[in-house]
Amino acid sequence: MSASVSQRKDLLVREALSILQQAGVEDASREAYLLLEWVLKKDRLAMLSLLEVGAEDAARYRHVVQRRAKREPFAFITGEQGFWTLDLSVSPETLIPRGDSEALIEALLECGPERNKELSFLDLGTGTGCLLLAALAEYPRAMGVGVDIAEGAVRLARHNAQRNGLGERARFMVGSWAEGITGPFDVILSNPPYIERDVVAQLMPEVEHYEPHRALDGGDDGLEAYRLLCQELPRLLSATGLAIFELGIGQEEAVTQLAESQGLRKLRCHTDLGGVPRALVLARS
Ligand code: GLN
Repeated sequence: MSASVSQRKDLLVREALSILQQAGVEDASREAYLLLEWVLKKDRLAMLSLLEVGAEDAARYRHVVQRRAKREPFAFITGEQGFWTLDLSVSPETLIPRGDSEALIEALLECGPERNKELSFLDLGTGTGCLLLAALAEYPRAMGVGVDIAEGAVRLARHNAQRNGLGERARFMVGSWAEGITGPFDVILSNPPYIERDVVAQLMPEVEHYEPHRALDGGDDGLEAYRLLCQELPRLLSATGLAIFELGIGQEEAVTQLAESQGLRKLRCHTDLGGVPRALVLARS
């Protein structure tokens, strides 16, 4: 078909669908549609009544479909990901926020302090800032610090704070875990790297080839970051403070033991939507 004339939307989407399916993209039909919606900057309703796509837009669409067919994550193509109540910008400098991590915010709301108190939050390995910013959005008088070892992540997190009207209450800094941080904090959040090193190479192509391994690789047993984090808790947590850590599958017992060896106890472990124990809540014993 000539590239200079407009093209029928249904044929274009069908072509994309078959390319994405062949590439092994899981939810190919939804993504074929959503990528077109994104290219055209139209909402769902406007899309429904659309019959033709202009030649230039069709070419742009084919280009992003090719990128997605190489298994580049959808969120890196659009630069956007929703998390909790927030719209966040994402980049290859950080993990893409996952729905599973929202379990940490649910756990915070369930076990955490009163919503209207003046509180201090800390997020270690903040990435896009998703956990800290979602927590601050729920606690209108809290202030928070987010730390990440990647400068690009810190820049992105600052941008996300501004974008969501939380810039006044969130500070982001470059650092290795809690080095140089003093506290005390009422809530410490972290989604550390927790995948066993050997397993990182077996993740879905979207994750393995595009997301930063530094944010995934938890060392030989997947627990390296938790060892460091648990050691820091006694010095950083306030007397009544809570630490809420994201867990990988099957890590609840091992991480609880690491915390117990530092004088902490498990308050509860909140499951994600798939029923996986995901958000471990710790307090001083
Ligand atoms: N949940 C991520 C994944 O399975 C891993 C995140 C992490 O290591 N913290 O890809």
